[in-house]
Amino acid sequence: MKDLREAYQLMQDNCGIKVGDTVRVLRISTKKEEKTYGATWVTQTTKFIGKEYLVEGMYNGAVILAGVRFPFFVLEKIKDAEPELKPCPFCGEKPELLPSEALNAKWHNQFTVCCSINANGCGSTSRYADSKQEAIKAWNKRVSV
Ligand SMILES: [Zn+2]
Repeated sequence: MKDLREAYQLMQDNCGIKVGDTVRVLRISTKKEEKTYGATWVTQTTKFIGKEYLVEGMYNGAVILAGVRFPFFVLEKIKDAEPELKPCPFCGEKPELLPSEALNAKWHNQFTVCCSINANGCGSTSRYADSKQEAIKAWNKRVSV
């Protein structure tokens, strides 16, 4: 059984789901062959199906959602975890992710990362991006330049 568990762990490591992602539960796991992996998943109840959860942890052959163990293959990724914001390269303060509306920009539905003057920052910003993810990436890239 050990080899099978190792093989399963490897599949879980490569499934593309990570801590902080949002996933949806697609089905329960009751098939006999799925149990041969030996993990103790608690997915015999239908109450989780169709709901979205934040991935709390991934270990011992299970993905933890709301304190409950799930096999990765009954989960569908909905949203990637937001990458962490690096501190401001100019003043070292912690920046904020803001929607463009918050800065009275003429663009709507966009995002920027700002080292806010209101929070003792220096006022520097990233470029505007279409998604939170892109804005964070742009900011973090700027930091490393
Ligand atoms: Zn700053």
